[in-house]
Amino acid sequence: MVTSFNIYTLVRENVQRMKPYSSARDEFKDFKKDMVFLDANENPFNNGVNRYPDPQQYSLKELLAKQKGVEVSQILLGNGSDEVLDLLFRAFCEPKKENIITLPPTYGMYKVLAETNAVQNNEVLLTDEFEPNVDKILNTIDENSKLLFLCSPNNPTGNSFKVENIKKLLENFNGLVVIDEAYIDFSNEESWVGQLRNYPNLVVTQTLSKAYGMAGIRLGICYASEEIISVLNKIKPPYNVNELTQQRALERVANEDFVKNEINQILKERTVLCDSLREVSFVEKIYASDANFILAKVDDANKRYKELLDKGVVVRNRSTQPLCENTLRFTIGTPEENQKLIAALKEL
Ligand SMILES: *Cc1c(COP(=O)(O)O)cnc(C)c1O
Repeated sequence: MVTSFNIYTLVRENVQRMKPYSSARDEFKDFKKDMVFLDANENPFNNGVNRYPDPQQYSLKELLAKQKGVEVSQILLGNGSDEVLDLLFRAFCEPKKENIITLPPTYGMYKVLAETNAVQNNEVLLTDEFEPNVDKILNTIDENSKLLFLCSPNNPTGNSFKVENIKKLLENFNGLVVIDEAYIDFSNEESWVGQLRNYPNLVVTQTLSKAYGMAGIRLGICYASEEIISVLNKIKPPYNVNELTQQRALERVANEDFVKNEINQILKERTVLCDSLREVSFVEKIYASDANFILAKVDDANKRYKELLDKGVVVRNRSTQPLCENTLRFTIGTPEENQKLIAALKEL
């Protein structure tokens, strides 16, 4: 257990002093009553989006809370998880003084956000098995380390980190451990959302961009303690999740069977693609995946990447990432798209 953990000592001083901005819609949110709203300088003629959206996205949070077994007060929604991650930096990391820990090869946004926020990014490479190097991470942490990013399942490697490794980090780091679960719905591993009551320093992010098929509406989700969420609420832009996004997200999240069905199709296709990749002569290694993509080592990634492009198939060349020399990352597409990829690979 984290013994000396205190959320209030972690928060930046300027944020600590702030009160959340109170928007017109915060003060009078009871749309159901027959009231006349002349408070927000909106155009009164109803076209479905003439009013400001609910700044706290209550309906959507209520549904998510029910599905995930958490309280509404433990959820913050953002314009993609990228916004949620940025809020974490801005709430907890003092620019030019404090630092974060990331574990390459991993999602590129942590580094971009660190640079944007002038926060030092201390990198500790994953092990050869793509697991967190726990001892080295604990040795790298200093009194200015605020956030530790664990992407599990990890992008671009596709594996989920071992529970015991994550536990050790949660138990021994007094900053926030941010587990990015963008791909959790493709995995058999349990989400860490269920562990929030055991770890006051745990933050879990998810997104509607991958399994839920809604990258275009931009909706990211942050699950954490009520205390952490209330800190983030102080600094979030009041109307960061627009009305159309809230409506579309609500429909999709309510339709669990539809989403599950698509996930199952993608998982089936992942097996098909994996089996086909084994038959491609220049594919040297296929990494096990808990996500909707497969990372594979090939003989010459730059060359194969270009050859695939010439055949009209765009994949991701991950060769510049540490431990990922000569790797390509293949997103699982529709059966037809995957067949095109497989045919192209076999022609090379
Ligand atoms: C795709 C992805 C996201 C999604 O970000 P959004 O801003 O929600 O679209 C987050 N984390 C990782 C690791 C990803 O690969």
